[in-house]
Amino acid sequence: MAEREPRRVVSGMRPTGRLHLGHFHGAIKNWIAISQKAECFYFSADWHALTSEYKDTSGIAQAQREMFADWIAAGLDPERCTLFIQSQVKQHAELFLLLGMVTPLGWLERVPTYKEQQEQLAEKDLNTYGFLGYPALQTADVALYGADAVPVGQDQVSHLELAREIVRKFNHTFGKGEKPILVEPHAYLTEVPKILGTDGRKMSKSYGNAIELGEDPESARKKIMAAVTDPARKRRNDPGNPDICGIYYLHKAYSPSETIDLVNRECRTAGIGCVDCKKLLLQNLIPSLEKHRAARAALDREPGRIEALVQLGTQKATRVAEETMDRVRAAVKLT
Ligand code: SF4
Repeated sequence: MAEREPRRVVSGMRPTGRLHLGHFHGAIKNWIAISQKAECFYFSADWHALTSEYKDTSGIAQAQREMFADWIAAGLDPERCTLFIQSQVKQHAELFLLLGMVTPLGWLERVPTYKEQQEQLAEKDLNTYGFLGYPALQTADVALYGADAVPVGQDQVSHLELAREIVRKFNHTFGKGEKPILVEPHAYLTEVPKILGTDGRKMSKSYGNAIELGEDPESARKKIMAAVTDPARKRRNDPGNPDICGIYYLHKAYSPSETIDLVNRECRTAGIGCVDCKKLLLQNLIPSLEKHRAARAALDREPGRIEALVQLGTQKATRVAEETMDRVRAAVKLT
């Protein structure tokens, strides 16, 4: 996919509460960088959360507040980007409905994550219209803002390809060959470094292996010291392989290059033990957690600030979305 500089970008995140290190390195860090050069709309995907969590919605509002607070504390500047709540901009639902009219069922059924997620989350009944249709909702999320780019990792490029196909089908069905009604977004490839949880699997709140961005230093220390490393290093003198160790990936995210080089070299020859390696990591990780905690505490001292910022963002998003829907309604002849 051709890489070109983005002009307008949309991205969202399901509200799952306080963010962990994986969220920051996998998304927020890129969002901050993109907001320096493009107009950005970042939203809490609360309707998307419902596609799999519809049976218990009680935690969404609080999780959403925590998430926005963590976005801002982590460095996302609300002056440089528009932060909003998906379900507060009703145009998402309207465009989703209209896109649904032209989206073939086969396209949705063939999305690899559709079957995968149904199997992985077997305890939830995901045999629903909402879950099948979520790629059409994702397409609406992006097309509503005329975004020309969506930041994605390599593994998500196929999702965006489906969004492009839905937009093309819509434009072909209702357009008259002049300017397209909806903008076809392209993938803006971003680096998504590997961040593993304390059990060696992908860091995820649902696995219980995550370290929060604002984790209490003592709790972070305990988690890191108990974290799994290369299982081949049973004794201090056993050489290891940092490439399969979550601690090494955290060094890559938090330690200076000389420390990363040292760990990479000395782990392989058993020149450094896992305990010392973890202590080195903590020296670099803890200040970052403390910085985040201080930023969160400052936000918490200003009650209502997050809500006001999100309300402003939601108003701006609604204006832009309504402009798009004016064009869409006219094209579909629903004026
Ligand atoms: S020395 Fe460090 S990188 Fe190597 S296995 Fe131990 S914790 Fe992992």
